[in-house]
Amino acid sequence: MTAPIERFDQLDLQAPLLAALAEIGYETPSPIQAACIPHLLAGNDILGEAQTGTGKTAAFALPALHRVDITKRNPQVLVLAPTRELAIQVAEAFQRYASKMPGFHVLPIYGGQSMVVQLRQLQRGAHVIVGTPGRVMDHMERKSLNLEGLTTLILDEADEMLRMGFIDDVEWILERIPAERQTALFSATMPDAIRRVAHRYLRDPKEVKIKSATTTVSTIRQRFLQIAGPHKLDALTRILEVEDEFDAAIVFVRTKTATVELAEKLEARGYAAACLNGDMTQQLRERVIEQLKNKTLDIVVATDVAARGIDVPRVSHVINYDIPYDTEAYVHRIGRTGRAGRAGNAILFVAPRENHLLRQIERATRQPIEALKLPSREAVADKRVASFRQQVTEVLESEDLSFFLNVIAGMEENNDSDIREIAAALAYLAQKDRPLQMPDSGKPDFAQMSASGKPDPRAPRETREPRENRGEILERRRDYAEGRLARYRIDVGREHMASPKDIVGAIANEAGIESRFIGQINLFEDYSTVELPSDLSNDVLQILRRARVRQQPLNIRLASPEEASRERGRPGPGGPGGPGGAPRGAGPKKPFRKEGFDRPAGGDFKSRKPKP
Ligand code: ADP
Ligand code: MG
Repeated sequence: MTAPIERFDQLDLQAPLLAALAEIGYETPSPIQAACIPHLLAGNDILGEAQTGTGKTAAFALPALHRVDITKRNPQVLVLAPTRELAIQVAEAFQRYASKMPGFHVLPIYGGQSMVVQLRQLQRGAHVIVGTPGRVMDHMERKSLNLEGLTTLILDEADEMLRMGFIDDVEWILERIPAERQTALFSATMPDAIRRVAHRYLRDPKEVKIKSATTTVSTIRQRFLQIAGPHKLDALTRILEVEDEFDAAIVFVRTKTATVELAEKLEARGYAAACLNGDMTQQLRERVIEQLKNKTLDIVVATDVAARGIDVPRVSHVINYDIPYDTEAYVHRIGRTGRAGRAGNAILFVAPRENHLLRQIERATRQPIEALKLPSREAVADKRVASFRQQVTEVLESEDLSFFLNVIAGMEENNDSDIREIAAALAYLAQKDRPLQMPDSGKPDFAQMSASGKPDPRAPRETREPRENRGEILERRRDYAEGRLARYRIDVGREHMASPKDIVGAIANEAGIESRFIGQINLFEDYSTVELPSDLSNDVLQILRRARVRQQPLNIRLASPEEASRERGRPGPGGPGGPGGAPRGAGPKKPFRKEGFDRPAGGDFKSRKPKP
């Protein structure tokens, strides 16, 4: 373990896992993965401390999958996670990493989900169970979950479980599972109570702590933009357009796949962009850098590894499109700009659940990062008009226009047109391929939405996953009333056994829309309606049309006025003998999440002893 691990194939993982990782596009193990995977493969217990977003899931899931015996159908790995959202996320990650392991089954179990369904699923068997402590206890008590063959126990987000009052439940479980097992405990922080649990239940654990580097970067202006995943692309292009000092940019993303996709999208929008990743030959990579130097390219979309050490003085901007895992990576990234004594700009996109990473970076670099306001449509249009005027002035000053003056004089005489109108027509022609006005969809601008009084991301917040409070509910009502949220129709309803949480899960996971941007959901017989931001990009809609819930493609589209109005309790058409306008999980005016999602009635969020 002396040489640093830079590639997954340096870890002793089975070929199907490496193949899945290659397909997902992970290029290099994150620090916590590089540190933990060898220990876990060797059978050691682990006490791991690292912030959210650092890749802990793969750090435990990959070695666990490596050791699973597919031929046995009993649970061999149990992961305990604090919330159902996290349990689902972790289960999905297992599924993704195991995509090349035919016959593999993972099952998430959590409160609020139908017991009948869960019992049936448990009976079918699963190799890995990911559950919230309360529900796992329930099943252990009912003997519907047989953990005799368990070989690995993972406690994910242990401090969060402690904070939510689950620690007794966790200990209850720890005392009733086979003592002969591997245990891994992951936590963002290590309060004493967690250490005590670790000492009691872990055997000689290897301690891994991913700490943040400390550096200062002075000539670089650092800014951040709070932005949800689906809006990143639009935000990026707006920023690139209005930034005064823009010359060239390196845009950092997390995966190889993302480098290719984003570079293609930027090209489609008229930028000279290319990707740079570890899959490319050295020769190809060098060519990309050369093209960036000689201005054939203006934007390079890169992963950390591929961009290491790039030295191109004209890079005026580093965009952290996906937030880096740790401060060290951040410092390396932004060091690609501000070179050779020039000014540099670093812009960091921060999704709401990544706020703590922003604070961590600020602390470690000892520099505040300013909030960037997303340019509005008008600002972008102003900028385009200004540069158009500039071009016209330059032509007037430097070109010989006599031939064109004659053409125009002829037009003026023959057409009876005013010279101003002719000029306007020419301006129209000149900008047709790249319009001066941003297309107005008639919907409110999302730039205003993200700026509308959302909490300061740097204000300390108690919980990492915000639960809905009254203020947020009211805020969402207002968003709807003012057109920032719109009601969409999806082709999945009660007859497909869909629940609001299935729908939220699919939308959040497929399109990367934060669940707080997902409003009220009304279930009807063969369709549902859901409130989402009214300005979803075509890319996102495309993804959502294909996404599935209960095997059913969502086929999302804006709801018709009749469909949309059914929330108010008026039965709409097309539902004979239907729900009578009383959707399940959401009474009129009452967002479903109050009971149905964020605070499950099932009791997983309360600490409690199992019923005798
Ligand atoms: P944590 O559990 O520490 O909060 P996650 O496991 O949820 O972090 O990972 C955060 C994000 O990083 C996920 O989107 C995941 O797909 C991505 N990720 C994890 N490992 C890698 C890697 N080695 N390369 C690129 N992306 C990764
Ligand atoms: Mg995690």
